[in-house]
Amino acid sequence: MPSEIKPVCGLERTKLAEVVPLSTPYSVLIFPTTFCNFKCIYCAHSLGTEEMKKRYNFSKENMDMETYQKIIEQLKQFPEKIKMLSLTGQGEPFFNKNIGQMIRIAKESNVAERIEIISNASLLTKELADEIIDAGLDTLRISLQGLSSQKYKEICGTDINFDEFMNNIKYLYSKKQSTNLFVKILDAALDKGDDEKFYKLFSDYSDRMYIEKMLPVYDGVKATDKMDIKYDRYGREIEKRNVCPLAFFMLGIFPDGDVEPCDTIYKPVVIGNVNHESLFEMWNGKILSDFWKMQLTEGYKHNPKCAVCCAPNDVAHPEDVLDHDSQKILELIERKNK
Ligand code: SF4
Ligand code: SF4
Repeated sequence: MPSEIKPVCGLERTKLAEVVPLSTPYSVLIFPTTFCNFKCIYCAHSLGTEEMKKRYNFSKENMDMETYQKIIEQLKQFPEKIKMLSLTGQGEPFFNKNIGQMIRIAKESNVAERIEIISNASLLTKELADEIIDAGLDTLRISLQGLSSQKYKEICGTDINFDEFMNNIKYLYSKKQSTNLFVKILDAALDKGDDEKFYKLFSDYSDRMYIEKMLPVYDGVKATDKMDIKYDRYGREIEKRNVCPLAFFMLGIFPDGDVEPCDTIYKPVVIGNVNHESLFEMWNGKILSDFWKMQLTEGYKHNPKCAVCCAPNDVAHPEDVLDHDSQKILELIERKNK
């Protein structure tokens, strides 16, 4: 069946201001690894290990299974299922050799409505495709960096055999059962007139496909340094926001167990570590509550790490805007804390 051209975001969203503070986060992103085999020009990985350490205090590591199991157990303590568990964050998920097992454990635990992965797919093989389908992955989102080997070299500094790469994707699509396969590409990775080529190439081998705008997601990365944000990644004109909605519905977990209230590289605040306290305690704890209050009273830019982050204007959807309801939400948080 031919693929649909649709953005990555869910198209029917609840108005966030009407439901926060949430008793259960909507999305939890577990970072299986912070290694990546690419150095895409618009990504922090293009800066190299030392500069990433200096600029973001970022280190490269794989999550071990003990930490992972702990997280899955802790997710069971929330009153509801989380809507989306993504095994993705700041690295290439297939770099972690346990990824199939991780999907299977998450699926069997029934803690999430759906399990997703975003991957560059360069490490995908037929065996791995069989493994992740069999483990029950709901959605694989493939992030493309070009439509030829030459473009891959230019955008992510890596040699890939594009025909082989395509064959692995076609194989996965032919075997996928209930796994959805979405593909996306950034406008910056397309040459003039390549839009049609992209849609043609993937219309028979994906369930959904879309082109996103390149934005300055990583502070200090040259390719996006001087960009002014007028549009979000889906191409919608934005109104600058004061409160970052992500922090009110998301948790991101680094390989060492550190937890932040979003999925960025910045770690604006560490609300705890899964090896010392539970996610449920963190979600209902003082550190996160104080961070929410700071957002609602001073605005996200008050936190120096948030100040360089474009996510509130980039990935937050119009239905997620909290700016006009700050006072009401503050009162609800105060009441919940009593
Ligand atoms: S594949 Fe993803 S994580 Fe890796 S360098 Fe590219 S954008 Fe960054
Ligand atoms: S502004 Fe960025 S760094 Fe701060 S909470 Fe939001 S997503 Fe995270």
